[in-house]
Amino acid sequence: MNKPASVPEQVDAVVVGAGFSGLYMLYRLRQIGLSVKAFDSAGDVGGTWYWNRYPGARCDIATPDYTYSFDPELEKEWTWSEKYATQPEILDYLRFVADRYGLRSDIEFSTAVTSARWDEHEKRWTVTTGHGEEIRCRYYIMATGCLSVPKSPDIEGAGRFAGPVYFTSRWPHEGVDFTGQRVAVIGTGSSGIQSIPLIARQASQLTVFQRTPNFSIPAHNGPAPADRLQQLDEDRDGYRHDARWSRIGVPSEPTDVLGVTASEAVRRERFEAAWQQGELVGIVSVFADQLLNPASNDIVAEMIRAKIRSIVKDPGTAETLCPKDHYFGTKRPCLDTGYFDTYNLPHVRLVDLRKQPIVSITEDGIETADESFGFDAIVYATGFDAMTGALVAADVTGRDSLSLKEKWAAGPSTYLGLMTAGFPNFFMLTGPGSPSVLSNMAVSIEQHVDWVAGCLKDMREEGLDTIEPTELAESGWNQHVQDCAAITLMPTANSWYMGANVPGKPRVFLPYIGGVDGYRQACDDVAGQGYLGFRMTGPGREQCRDGVIRRMQPDVAMVLELIATMDLPPMETLSADDARALMAATAATRPPGPEVGEVTDGVIPGPAGDLPYRLYRPAGSSEGPRPLVVYFHGGGWVLGNLDSDDPLCRDLCERSGAVIVSVNYRHAPEVRFPAAALDAFAAVQWADANAIELGGIPGQLSVAGWSAGANIAAVACQLARDAGGPHISGQMLICPVADSDMTRPSYQENGDGYILTTALMRWFWDHYADPADRRDPRAAPLRGDLQGLPPACIVAADFDPLRDEGVAYARALEDAGVPVRLTRARGHTHTSVTMVGVVISGAPVRAEIGEALRDFFPSVESRERVS
Ligand code: FAD
Ligand code: NAP
Repeated sequence: MNKPASVPEQVDAVVVGAGFSGLYMLYRLRQIGLSVKAFDSAGDVGGTWYWNRYPGARCDIATPDYTYSFDPELEKEWTWSEKYATQPEILDYLRFVADRYGLRSDIEFSTAVTSARWDEHEKRWTVTTGHGEEIRCRYYIMATGCLSVPKSPDIEGAGRFAGPVYFTSRWPHEGVDFTGQRVAVIGTGSSGIQSIPLIARQASQLTVFQRTPNFSIPAHNGPAPADRLQQLDEDRDGYRHDARWSRIGVPSEPTDVLGVTASEAVRRERFEAAWQQGELVGIVSVFADQLLNPASNDIVAEMIRAKIRSIVKDPGTAETLCPKDHYFGTKRPCLDTGYFDTYNLPHVRLVDLRKQPIVSITEDGIETADESFGFDAIVYATGFDAMTGALVAADVTGRDSLSLKEKWAAGPSTYLGLMTAGFPNFFMLTGPGSPSVLSNMAVSIEQHVDWVAGCLKDMREEGLDTIEPTELAESGWNQHVQDCAAITLMPTANSWYMGANVPGKPRVFLPYIGGVDGYRQACDDVAGQGYLGFRMTGPGREQCRDGVIRRMQPDVAMVLELIATMDLPPMETLSADDARALMAATAATRPPGPEVGEVTDGVIPGPAGDLPYRLYRPAGSSEGPRPLVVYFHGGGWVLGNLDSDDPLCRDLCERSGAVIVSVNYRHAPEVRFPAAALDAFAAVQWADANAIELGGIPGQLSVAGWSAGANIAAVACQLARDAGGPHISGQMLICPVADSDMTRPSYQENGDGYILTTALMRWFWDHYADPADRRDPRAAPLRGDLQGLPPACIVAADFDPLRDEGVAYARALEDAGVPVRLTRARGHTHTSVTMVGVVISGAPVRAEIGEALRDFFPSVESRERVS
């Protein structure tokens, strides 16, 4: 094939796409001295802003923020006319940028890249275009956009309509005049919501087909926000720095106001301020917990619904426009200009596809289950195959002939959203697993491009020329991306973030929700740690520091950061009384834990006096007796009481369906070893003897405990076996102290920085037991005879100094023939699993604990299965 002179045989890098990402990538690659060729199937630069020319198309991030910031001179030379610029103005801006830096000479327009194939021998990519040209390159960079492949119409009869059909994402350059026409718009996402008011101005009849109503707030467009412009004028660098280290790429003060605890006045005031501001950054952060807590989310959602009802005059239409099937923010919220008012116009009609689904598009209109509509034109505002669509549309084939499409059949897998294993030297800009669409993309794009350019420069300086993530690093990042999403409400929606808008697309949360700031830090950390998780090679050398960049659960990390800001004294430097007071003070600010059926306090006759207990009866247990769980709180035998573990006990009660009897025991240093263990055994004996009075089922009794409480629970099992009873059905040991040997690796790895420290553990032991006693099985159950003990469930947390002794106890029990379930609390600390209502990621672990407790009592399961 003859190549146009403008397409060389070989370059250092090929960039696909000439939108915001591709243009800046081209600029940066040239800057570091690489030869580059870029391709775009569009006829000019602009990407999104080239294609999406529908009436009303604008940005929804204010223009002072939705702009390049890499060159202060460029910023001075361009002035935006509006707060939210129109598509033509943004396209003009990108053309201006292309011209200013002379970028066009390296871009081949109207040229689609159809395939790219890695040659392992040559360490080069061969890129093929739709015109049949081939070009070889060392680095292949897809700047192909998250929202660039329109979703194909998945509606019966879509090809049959005889009149004109328009896609918002492929709008005719010459525009469309709907004057006097009967127009249908299908879709009420951002594109529909922006275009509907303007189409309504021309059309003689406008019918909007809505499948899912969307949350939208007024954009209050006008001049660019004066406060932002002033901040930029005064300190441009500071402003841009704040944007780069903000949550969504727009400088803003994070709030700590919680929707669930704020007063009605504060709620209203914060909501109204956000409504008036007309910016996404405001409305998505009315409350700190609105994307985490359904109750808080509902406060914002209900206030938006009230606004919709106040704008739309027809109550039925208003109700149909009120989103009720997803939490606010779990689908991209919209900014609009007169959207809801449009439904007050006499010639505009809303059709609710949930009640009246489309049966088929016909030659002259649309047929629903109830009605036939005739139209002159149909507009599809039906969205995109987002985030992965463009990446898999081109046939990208990596090592061993594996295609990206095949690799991602069950969902995308990336390291940092930038690269994917098996595809050396292949970079994605704003790929799945990066903040991209959850952020001001101008900021995220610059960060990605800068990182890639910095990486290629570093490689060259080190004499390296190939780079690829390791499987370990990639799977660790994928896990982290999903962990971050899992603590939010995001995965609950059928959104394009979840791939749910495209039939057959795997349901995976696609972007990274850990924040622009958190993400930037992770990327910086990777580079700073010698490109952790990347394998890099060059002539005669290879470098690879394998590892996972974020292993901790995101909310656990947040709690640790918060605690660090409190500057608390290390507990082991305090007296026992002061440590108890500190623990009580922090406990007083916690959420209370779930409601249970009934809570009563009482006392148990212990070996040396009464022991207080608190009994938790699950809801509905008045209908009949339940199994009993005798629970012992944590606190290193020194701290803790019935209140300290109250939220956890409530949680376990509800999850297990058992009656929980939480027993306090004598504490050290006032009363030392073996008092706590003997109290625990006495409590078990008493509970067994009084099972009926406690609402329990005789013979169905388990023990449970956390930390030192798990230690004495385990010891109680050994004592009961030795004494010939009572019969214990199971032992639930959450992060147990199983041994007194503090030389296991977890004491080094997790010895500092995760609340329970090695120093504090030593302090606990010193208060509890003399060194000579610490090998006694009643202090270190791992050293006892383990034959014939009850089935166990042991929870071991990754970031716990006690992790390894918990695992060792599980293994030793197994070796002794005891059935054991070992639950790894991935990404958790010693304390985080127990932080009910604070650490959301602890809930799935506690769900497993609840399930294991139920399994100790098979009759409960079978009874509930029957009911
Ligand atoms: P794109 O702009 O999508 O450019 C990708 C380019 O790659 C396209 O031109 C495409 O033709 C080309 N391409 C793809 N595959 C191939 C191939 N195989 N061969 C050749 N060329 C190919 N984000 C915000 O942050 N704020 C906003 O206000 C905002 N508003 C938006 C409004 C609309 C209507 C849409 C659709 C998106 C909006 N976005 C917004 C997201 C927007 O996509 C990004 O802000 C940004 O423009 C993306 O730039 P990009 O260069 O990464 O991708
Ligand atoms: P979208 O948000 O995915 O909305 C598509 C709409 O079409 C939804 O209402 C969807 O309903 C509906 N739909 C899809 N298939 C349908 C079918 N078969 N039958 C009936 N209805 C169907 O797409 P978009 O509006 O183009 O926006 C995509 C993203 O681009 C936005 O979220 C935003 O990030 C960006 N964008 C930004 C702006 C801006 O304001 N700057 C403007 C446009 C786009 P369901 O919800 O039920 O699937």
